Amino acid sequence: MNILIIENTWMGDTRYGFFDKLLLNAFTILPTLYARKIAAITPKQHTVTIINERNSIIDFSKKYDLVNINYTTSTAKRAYEIADEFRKKGITVVLSGIHASLMPKEAKEHSDSILLGWGELNWLDFLNDYEENKLKLEYKHKKYDKNTKIPPINIKLPAFVISGAIEATCGCPYKCDFCPESNIIEGSQFYKRPVDEVIEEIKNLPQKFFTFYDTSMTIDPKYTKELFRNMIGLKKKFSCNGNVDVLANDIEFVKLSKKAGCTSWLLGFESFSQQTLDNVNKITNKVEEYKKAVENIHDNRMIVVGDFMFGFDTDTKDVFDETLKQIKILGIDAADFNILTPLPGTSIYDKLEKEKRILTKDWSQYTLKNPVFKPKNMTSVELLAGVRKMYCEYYSIPNNIKRIFKSMRLGMLPFLLVFQRTFAAAMSHRKLFF
Ligand code: SF4
Repeated sequence: MNILIIENTWMGDTRYGFFDKLLLNAFTILPTLYARKIAAITPKQHTVTIINERNSIIDFSKKYDLVNINYTTSTAKRAYEIADEFRKKGITVVLSGIHASLMPKEAKEHSDSILLGWGELNWLDFLNDYEENKLKLEYKHKKYDKNTKIPPINIKLPAFVISGAIEATCGCPYKCDFCPESNIIEGSQFYKRPVDEVIEEIKNLPQKFFTFYDTSMTIDPKYTKELFRNMIGLKKKFSCNGNVDVLANDIEFVKLSKKAGCTSWLLGFESFSQQTLDNVNKITNKVEEYKKAVENIHDNRMIVVGDFMFGFDTDTKDVFDETLKQIKILGIDAADFNILTPLPGTSIYDKLEKEKRILTKDWSQYTLKNPVFKPKNMTSVELLAGVRKMYCEYYSIPNNIKRIFKSMRLGMLPFLLVFQRTFAAAMSHRKLFF
């Protein structure tokens, strides 16, 4: 069988120009993980082609037997266009991903079948049924358990890829009110792969640098410490996500991460207001611990990438200046600024829907960079202007130079990462806002 897997990223149908593409291929980029897992578990008699719409064009005239599109809310519109086009040609289309799981009725209108929850857990059943001509309309959520085997995902990609990707755990038990990942059925179930399996996969990665795609490496510090101990000596470097609670309080954990090869921690700070964090159930964050978390990471010569979100009901127009001030005080090395977005399936969506504050259900607007609801203490125009201002000021040329030079004290790799992050942010900022 000839199988095509399309993984739309959150950038949706944004296509890059020639020079952007050249730079992206040189400096980036996080390769897709879902598609590679699917390719890894597909029996070898089938041919699997992976396309990332972000920088490739789909050839609808090619003869495929089966097309799997994995998508999120912001790329749903484009995913449905692609699905409809293939189905017109009589090609079977199966949809998967967070949005398909949270809005199955909508997904079924554009597909022959859908995979709910973690698509990779249903893929082989789906393939068998397809071959035996007894396809179901939907494949129910399945749990990761000790019998689940995710094979190494070292699939050769057609392009040169600088950075590899690994997943040691999946799911997140915290359920922040705005987070779709933890709100799909089984999304809050936390699954850990056996450490020796993960180590074997890391050893076999062709790249020296990789990213842990786990939602957070600090959910089970005991597990992660064992993993990090076993990584010492592998001579690999990596980036990963974590939460403030552990990074501020567990020095042994932070030191071990450095010894294992960590160069950068991405932290979802979201806000400098404890009231805001408490209101949205971000239980891992205590604002008073931010400073300690950042210091611990810097003391161990790693960089801090911060994620921030704006538009909460407790946010007023002052939130932008205040956040910029605090980010500077903490010395955060790179940052991303998002607009609170009521993604379907989250409690924020239910709340705003009930209060009739959702302005549009055009999912292509749900990129985290557009105000798609009425904020409480400012207008949506002010919210958008505030986030633009965050990007313009944080990524102004003098600030970029200062941050990039400052990161040199942490070593060559952290310096290059800050440089790359700054460059990528400047590019996406330009694409998304102007
Ligand atoms: S900690 Fe992160 S992954 Fe977990 S629920 Fe909150 S936002 Fe989602």
